[in-house]
Amino acid sequence: MSLNIILMGVQGAGKGEQARFIQEKYGIPQVSTGDLFRAMKTRTDALAQRIQSIMAEGRLIDDDTTNTVVEERLAEPDAQNGVLLDGYPRTPAQAAWLDTHLAGKGAKINAVLLLEIDLYTAFKRSFGRVSSDTSKRSYNIYYNADGIDWSFEDHAEGQYPPRLKATHVASGETLRRRPDDASAHAIIKRIDTFIETTQPLIDYYRTRGLVTRIYADQPIEVVTMAIKHAIDAHL
Ligand code: AMP
Repeated sequence: MSLNIILMGVQGAGKGEQARFIQEKYGIPQVSTGDLFRAMKTRTDALAQRIQSIMAEGRLIDDDTTNTVVEERLAEPDAQNGVLLDGYPRTPAQAAWLDTHLAGKGAKINAVLLLEIDLYTAFKRSFGRVSSDTSKRSYNIYYNADGIDWSFEDHAEGQYPPRLKATHVASGETLRRRPDDASAHAIIKRIDTFIETTQPLIDYYRTRGLVTRIYADQPIEVVTMAIKHAIDAHL
C-alpha cells in the first residue's frame, strides 16, 4: 500500500527540514511543486518563461499546468510507493484532482500535516534564509548565523532593496538566497496567498478527518516527534 502525505505550512515553517525526516523514515520522495517549477528556470520555452514570471510575483500557477506537472512527477518510478507532497495541493480544485488521480491508482491521501508558526517568524525565516549550493546547508541571518558573514549592500545605482551578501567563513563560499526570497514584497505576497488559500484546503481535508495541526516554533526534534506520531496514527 502506498503512503501519501501532504505537508502544509507557510514559507519558513520548517517544512524542508521535516520533509527530509519523513522521506528517510518512510521511504517516500518529497514532491515539491515549487522545486519542480524552479527546476524549469533554465528552459526557454513560453510555458517555462510564463511560470518564472508568475513565481517572481509570488502568484500561483494555474491549476491545469500545476496538475500536469504533478501528474508527470507521480508517474516516475520512485513515486510508486507514495509521496510526500510539499506546496501542493494549494487550491481545492487541485485537491479534488489529486483525490481522483490517486483513486485511479487505488491510493489516497493518508495524512495532512499542518505546521503552524506566527507570521512574523515566518517572514524572518524566509527573508533571512541563505544556503550553500555545495553542502545544501541552510543558514539564517537572524537565527542561525554561526559560521557565516553577512551584510546588506547598497546597489551602485541605489536600487531598493539592498543586496544581501552572505559568505560561509570557513570555506569562503558565497551563500545564496532563493530568488523568490530576495524580495520582501514577494514573500509578503506568498504569505498572504498562503493565508487565503490554506483555509479552504484545511476545510476540505478536515471533513475527511485527515488534518493534524503541529506547532512548529519548537525545537526541530520536538516537531519531528509530533510528525511521526501523526503519520503513524494514519498508517
Ligand atoms: P513554494 O516553493 O512552494 O513557495 O513555491 C514557489 C512558487 O511556485 C509559488 O509562489 C507559486 O508561484 C508556485 N507554486 C508552487 N506550488 C504551486 C501550486 N501547488 N499551485 C500553484 N502555484 C504553485
